[in-house]
Amino acid sequence: MIRIGVWLGDRNEDRDWIARLATLIPGARVEGLAEAVPDTLDYALVWAPPEGLLSRQAALKAVISVGAGVDHVLRVADLPRHLPILRTTGPDMVQRLREYVALHVLAHHRDLMDTDARQARAEWQVFVTPTANRRRVGVMGLGRIGAACAQTLAALGFDTAGWARSPRDLPGVRTYGGEAGLAEFLDRCEILVCLLPLTADTADILNAGLFARLAPGAAVINAGRGGHLVEADLLAALDAGRLSGATLDVFRTEPLPPDHPFWRHPRIRVTPHIASYVDPDSGARVVAQNILAFDRDGTLPDIADPGRGY
Ligand code: NDP
Repeated sequence: MIRIGVWLGDRNEDRDWIARLATLIPGARVEGLAEAVPDTLDYALVWAPPEGLLSRQAALKAVISVGAGVDHVLRVADLPRHLPILRTTGPDMVQRLREYVALHVLAHHRDLMDTDARQARAEWQVFVTPTANRRRVGVMGLGRIGAACAQTLAALGFDTAGWARSPRDLPGVRTYGGEAGLAEFLDRCEILVCLLPLTADTADILNAGLFARLAPGAAVINAGRGGHLVEADLLAALDAGRLSGATLDVFRTEPLPPDHPFWRHPRIRVTPHIASYVDPDSGARVVAQNILAFDRDGTLPDIADPGRGY
């Protein structure tokens, strides 16, 4: 029998996931991670678990992140470091991000912030934006999600580039790799999308130095993690007109506090970490398949490497 403990930080969500997984994995025992008797679980399915929950389950075979990122698991102080960490992606997760990135790149491309501001003033002013093939966009991170989003932008006609640790072959996308390729990649970006994992190497990467390299008046979209962005540097770059706008889905503190300046900044669009979502319906199917495959022989394509941090 496979025994699974669930902690997503929300009782209702936990209940949904427990019910779905119990149906999808016949014979499994699925319960709340906090309620489970110590040392009885094979798998812990988590989002940002508090300290103390994982280390009391000494029989765990793996920890499963309900999400593509694993930074929220690696952060847990008493995480048993020997355990494999399984990521959760799947077609719905990738599709939602493709939609989010297309929506917000197009919004910056077609100056939607200015259009909204003009509408608020009942101001009719015709303006023309270049077509997508004359707009240079760049995606940082070319993993499962970043690569799909870069190809979506290329399919929309954008002049698209991508950056990862090393260059790769991605049809329709010019790619750059590592520190050596970063400056050249940034120099060409008018709209920059961050889809990196949060690691020691990528923390604070969206900073004043990076903004200064982008094309003047560039826009930045961060759907990676809040820890990628130096908030004060973004505000300064926007207020100086160095950047024309930003769309932010992820934040250092979530939920974003009501008095945070991002909420009311005229050049910032805030979305509440909804670029994508692992829902208990299609997401549970992916998790169930992953658990069953991993339980068979201890392998799976979506296993994070704690040494690299993703
Ligand atoms: P993957 O692990 O599949 O890919 C990560 C990519 O980032 C790889 O291309 C990798 O390079 C690149 N990368 C990692 N470190 C560096 C570095 N130091 N320099 C350059 N490139 C680097 O991740 P996914 O595509 O599945 O997801 C990416 C991130 O998106 C997640 O970690 C998460 O933070 C975020 N996300 C946000 C969501 C939201 O709702 N806002 C939802 C889902 C994910 P290489 O290929 O060379 O290894």
